[in-house]
Amino acid sequence: MANKYAKVNTIIPGNKSRAVLEQWRNNEADKLGYQAAVALERGEGAMLFDVDGNAFHDWTSGVLVANIGHAHPKLTAAISEAASKFLNVYEFINPYRAQAAEDLVKAAPKHLDCCFFTSTGSEATDTAARLMKKITGKFEIVSMFGGFHGRTIATAGLGGLSKIKAKMGPMVAGSLRVPYPYCYRWPFRQKKETCGFLCLEFWDDIIRANSSDSMAGLIMEPYQGSAGFLFPPDGFLPLVEKWARGKGMLFAIDEVQSAYGRTGWQWASDREGLKPDIITVGKGIGCGVPVAALLLKKDQIKDLGRGDLGSTYGGNPVSCAAVSVVLKIMKEEDIIANVKRIEKIFLKRLKEIEEKSKFAGEIRGRGLVYGIELVNDKSTKEPSPEKTRMLIDICAQNGLLVGSVGTFGNVIRVAPPLIINEEQAYESLDIMEACIKELT
Ligand code: PLP
Repeated sequence: MANKYAKVNTIIPGNKSRAVLEQWRNNEADKLGYQAAVALERGEGAMLFDVDGNAFHDWTSGVLVANIGHAHPKLTAAISEAASKFLNVYEFINPYRAQAAEDLVKAAPKHLDCCFFTSTGSEATDTAARLMKKITGKFEIVSMFGGFHGRTIATAGLGGLSKIKAKMGPMVAGSLRVPYPYCYRWPFRQKKETCGFLCLEFWDDIIRANSSDSMAGLIMEPYQGSAGFLFPPDGFLPLVEKWARGKGMLFAIDEVQSAYGRTGWQWASDREGLKPDIITVGKGIGCGVPVAALLLKKDQIKDLGRGDLGSTYGGNPVSCAAVSVVLKIMKEEDIIANVKRIEKIFLKRLKEIEEKSKFAGEIRGRGLVYGIELVNDKSTKEPSPEKTRMLIDICAQNGLLVGSVGTFGNVIRVAPPLIINEEQAYESLDIMEACIKELT
């Protein structure tokens, strides 16, 4: 049956895409991750259109950014209105900034009563690490194997993925990395069912061997995105919080990717009742307009001085207009209810795809964020970054745009805009099911 939404009428890349890609490659460093070879012209809701007139389902949302969909008219109107007044007034406070701060704090978990705006997620997590050191007067930060908090030297150093720090020499001193439950590839070679939380037990050994007794804080993602959409077993995160508190550390959750309904919860950390001292947010809070923030406790930062926080673009009027209108849209359109509705469709169909496909080693996730981990053989679990790239191309040719992540580069990102409707969900899942069958 013909698709209602996706329509691809050219070989990918089409001629116009080819020309744009060539112009781009001639001038900007072509060192981005692997993407389908399409040059995009515009987006609308959960769909993207290339310069050749092809229409694609978007399972990327940028990179889990465009939660309210592409070109939402209320978002474009709000940022245009702010831009027509001013784009930047640095630390001069203006109504957009005051309103955005109030709106964000109102939406925050109750125990966090102030925020600070930055421009990127990396800047927010870097600031979180700086604050944890400054507040405690200690310098060690515990972070996770497989963690991703950004690409600057400091945030890459906090992270637990080697590719972004390869050949860069020593990172920031004081990073203590501990294993995160990658249950499909259990680091302690235990069976999922009987392992308990062995990796967490091992954390104490790591600290005993490596800490110089100066532990400032712990930072982690509630599920790991870049490592391949790894969701810790229920009960793990509260134990981590307890562990951190027991060591007298501050506890920070990096929700740059997971917040604002992506997992079916406004805050992923709410699902298990966590009470972090700091939450970092980004991506979905501006839904494409560059803005990120830290959620904090006033009491905890009371001893900081003037100028201890600052950012050239953080809190600019246009970004702040976006923060306020995105929260409004999420409420008006009850976007989290849509996530819960569509989640059921994705869970069921992805499970079927996992069972039927020879190469889908594991498909995991919740809400509207899933990873399809591709392997050459389900019994050896040998990662297949080659099949992952192949699937990206096959999907694009059939009207579905996906990206990849993963410690081994073998996980397909399934992260459509949160406003995707039922028909689009079914159609895009049909496309994925057909494409994964084409893998050899
Ligand atoms: N933290 C997490 C959990 C992320 O997923 C990302 C980006 O992917 C970042 C931090 C860095 O954000 P940005 O790319 O906006 O600097």
